Amino acid sequence: MKESLFYSVGKENRVHCTLCPHHCVIKPGKRGICRVRKNDAGKLISENYSRVSSVGFDPIEKKPLYHFHPGQIIFSVGSIGCNLHCQFCQNWEISQSSCDDFEYMTTIAPDKIIEMASDRPDNIGIAYTYNEPAVWYEYMMDIANLAGDTGLKNVMVSNGFINPEPLQKLIPFMDAFSIDLKAFTEQFYLQLTNSRLQPILDALKQIRKSGKHLEITNLVITNQNDNPDDFEAMVDWIANELGEETVLHISRYYPTYKLNDPTTPEKTLNHFYEIASRRLDHVFLGNLRSNRGQDTTCPQCKTIAILRSGYTTRIVGLDEQGNCKNCGNNVIKFI
Ligand code: SF4
Repeated sequence: MKESLFYSVGKENRVHCTLCPHHCVIKPGKRGICRVRKNDAGKLISENYSRVSSVGFDPIEKKPLYHFHPGQIIFSVGSIGCNLHCQFCQNWEISQSSCDDFEYMTTIAPDKIIEMASDRPDNIGIAYTYNEPAVWYEYMMDIANLAGDTGLKNVMVSNGFINPEPLQKLIPFMDAFSIDLKAFTEQFYLQLTNSRLQPILDALKQIRKSGKHLEITNLVITNQNDNPDDFEAMVDWIANELGEETVLHISRYYPTYKLNDPTTPEKTLNHFYEIASRRLDHVFLGNLRSNRGQDTTCPQCKTIAILRSGYTTRIVGLDEQGNCKNCGNNVIKFI
């Protein structure tokens, strides 16, 4: 446990948490919507500080990040809790739990995480992932601060539902962001995630403006966010506001947790891939076996730059600066 950042105390010891756009006002003894920030007699406590549910070395493509050190390994670490309550969450056992009802956690100090991450010489850094790392803010910052001295990269895999001030303070410590853009309607976000779309769009613009590496994932769910017009509006927004070079992962949904809609048909994913490819340079298909939407091609001359098969990655058409060997165009920055 550690005292939280970003809160104020009001009447009757109620605390106002300003970490995320929920702006929870929490009575003494109660927790916020994320279930891991608790008012302890007028002090907001991060209950999941140093409480780790999962660790492991993953291919960076699993985050998913395809244009940030492709083919490399990253040490991944997660806790419990989330500020969204997605009905289709694939990690709901950890994301929708509090420290009282999830017992499979280990206490690991930030310096120990650095030690564990440094265990493999081929590891490029630390990914804060599995549950929502924004609700683990203090721990993530403490680790990221230490990692900076070691040369380890910091990667945040997030839903993007975080307020501008905490995000701004976090950005200098992060090297890359993998952000879910779950849909492009407020109705979807309200009904299926208990949150809002606009703050996430604002966070995406803030990250893009910072110059840090950014990739976006959109999970296409049958009957819920598979309207082609909404999807096209989302792609247009990404192209116009974030740039056509923004990497978009279109991911296949499988029924899970509270949602029983059928698995997304391949036909829908292929159609969305075509829509997105008209505006964006780099579109990928995830969560399905397909030869389409796997490789990176040079947007200028269409030469294959990176070949992928599952999590096996081969850089075939880039030089050491990430430039296309055929035409010299810069395809990726972080190679
Ligand atoms: S971080 Fe948690 S407690 Fe704070 S506003 Fe968001 S949901 Fe509420």
